[in-house]
Amino acid sequence: MRIARSFSAALILCSLTVAMAQNVSQPKPKVPKPPGQKPTPPMIPPKPVQESGKILELKGMDPSLMDKSVDPCVDFYQYSCGGWLKRNPVPADQSSYGRDTELAERNRLILRDILEKAAVETSSRSAVEQKIGDFYASCMDEASIEGKGASVLKPELDRIAALKSKDEIAEELAHLHLINVNAFFSYGSDQDFKDATSVIAEADQGGLGLPERDYYTRTDAKSVQTRRQYIRHVTNMLRLSGETPLVAAAHARKIMAIETALAKASLTVTQRRDPASVYHKLPVSDLAAMNPTFAWNRYLRATDTPPVQSLNVAVPVFFKGLETVLKQQNLETIKIYLRWHLVHALAGMLPKAFVNENFDFYGRKLSGQKELRARWKRCVQSTDGNLGEALGQIYVERTFGAEGKARTLQMVKDIEASMEQDIKNLTWMTDATKQKALEKLHTVANKIGYPDKWRDYSKYEVVRGDAMGNFIRGAEFESRRQVAKIGKPVDRGEWGMTPPTVNAYYNPQMNDINFPAGILQPPFYDNKMDDAVNYGDAGGVIGHELTHGFDDEGRQFDAKGNFDDWWTPQDTKEFEERTACVVHEYDNFIAVDNLHVQGKLTLGENVADLGGLKLAMLAFLRHAEETHQQPKAAEGFTPEQRFYISYGQGWCENDTPESLRLQAQTNPHSPVKYRVNGVVQNLPEFQTAFSCKTGTPMAPEKRCEVW
Ligand SMILES: [Zn+2]
Repeated sequence: MRIARSFSAALILCSLTVAMAQNVSQPKPKVPKPPGQKPTPPMIPPKPVQESGKILELKGMDPSLMDKSVDPCVDFYQYSCGGWLKRNPVPADQSSYGRDTELAERNRLILRDILEKAAVETSSRSAVEQKIGDFYASCMDEASIEGKGASVLKPELDRIAALKSKDEIAEELAHLHLINVNAFFSYGSDQDFKDATSVIAEADQGGLGLPERDYYTRTDAKSVQTRRQYIRHVTNMLRLSGETPLVAAAHARKIMAIETALAKASLTVTQRRDPASVYHKLPVSDLAAMNPTFAWNRYLRATDTPPVQSLNVAVPVFFKGLETVLKQQNLETIKIYLRWHLVHALAGMLPKAFVNENFDFYGRKLSGQKELRARWKRCVQSTDGNLGEALGQIYVERTFGAEGKARTLQMVKDIEASMEQDIKNLTWMTDATKQKALEKLHTVANKIGYPDKWRDYSKYEVVRGDAMGNFIRGAEFESRRQVAKIGKPVDRGEWGMTPPTVNAYYNPQMNDINFPAGILQPPFYDNKMDDAVNYGDAGGVIGHELTHGFDDEGRQFDAKGNFDDWWTPQDTKEFEERTACVVHEYDNFIAVDNLHVQGKLTLGENVADLGGLKLAMLAFLRHAEETHQQPKAAEGFTPEQRFYISYGQGWCENDTPESLRLQAQTNPHSPVKYRVNGVVQNLPEFQTAFSCKTGTPMAPEKRCEVW
């Protein structure tokens, strides 16, 4: 996903899990569950994360979660996770439920506790407690939100209504972008691809209400149905904001026509994985010439962009398409389109009728989620989205010990040492390229737990009782923070995820790997468990992120974070031959129904999974040797078996069919089943550990290997 919100970097950041692809800034429902399809009742009741008020501890590798009746050489995922999958159907308020969700639910309970305490108005509250407590209390005050009704939209709707000419759109769009309304295009700042030391302005494709370009162009029955449902949803939102049914329906069709034109000028998610396709640094005058109907200079002034000569016009062809839209549509139609995106962006803090309608389309229809998540969960998420490093300060004080940090760092060092060995041993890479690869590896910065310096929110005003105002000011605070970076030195200490997040990422422009405190806990990392378990799970995560620096996208950035080709043509050819094997392997996997995994879209993640687990095993063996500790068998499994089962269990997850569909069509991560089976089937060490005979599904004749 992108590092920021709609004010964002052009590059798709390589993260660990699907959750990263969701926008966390708004209490917007995540993806999905299938209509009319009831989950099979669990044989054993699901274990609640919270039992009688006490927050339960989760545990690393657990044999009771397995299905030992399955042959590990036939379906290792089912073997590792079968018991868990049976006992943990997707809850009604989720679209997918995995071990990461279990941990996220546990984190949420801790965050709620912190927020409820901070919400009590006492004179001893710190500035941080005041902000998070009042934000949360205001968000929870549904009576006040209902009481104000749709009137909170009025000041914003009035601004749009007051537009008198197309020239004035620039200032209004600047304002809307600052408050996180994704109309027409997206704008923000990013490190210059070619000079990672400087931050430049960036304009990128945007302006869609459906998840991705191809949702507007696919012709299969399911896609046609989704578009019909979307038009109905837009109609309903316009009705709720005061339009008559007939007018709203006519307006929704006009909005759909604009978005379809924008979509056709946009790149697909797969095309966007190529850095060259989203980097076009141009003089501002070139952009203005490309897009004469839009007053770019007025827009840049209105966003408070520092004086700039050039910017990254990520997708030039998109701005040519935008020009056609702005020229062809009259001002009244443009106002209709802006109104829709305004209501859409603010839906989460509006009265129930809006929230429910928003959920019905994005949650229920698109993601298969049966029920709206409880208010408190949405408010915890929104507080984390707007004040993540304020809430995160208290969260890490409570949960993140020094031991966890030290042991994680040790694993990172072991895995980096293993990668060094791996690169040196490669038979297909020339010495010249190996030198550069090692230089890059040695420059990777390791960020663990939380930032060294917390973000200063003092300029963000949080007012108790003003949920919508807090939400809008939060968006504006973040947008202005992004724009203010333009022309300033890069802050290498900055984090793109908040501390409670159950996820991790690699950023090629920073050349850093980031592991928030939220994921460095059981079941992913368990202080009480032996190395086999922790290297299999947390070690696999670390190896995954490190390998991203060398996947199809990351390899195109050098040690300093510059988009620069440091590969000889021969090495590039060898690399591409190896990745073609991975593309082909994953193209053959079925995500849901007859929908295949997209091998090219998921290539970077698959290469990272594959390299990550191989490196984690090397590191595990290396660590045992260096510390002269002979790993012991336990619970009926050899240390190597425990390592792989621990990895497999990290990915136990149930999904609704809608969620799988949405993921396969938009997300660079493969479905969890293939993040296990697709990986181990390529590893001879796995095949030895479980004595798999060549020719069994987990030990095919042909293996893929990149790193
Ligand atoms: Zn990843």
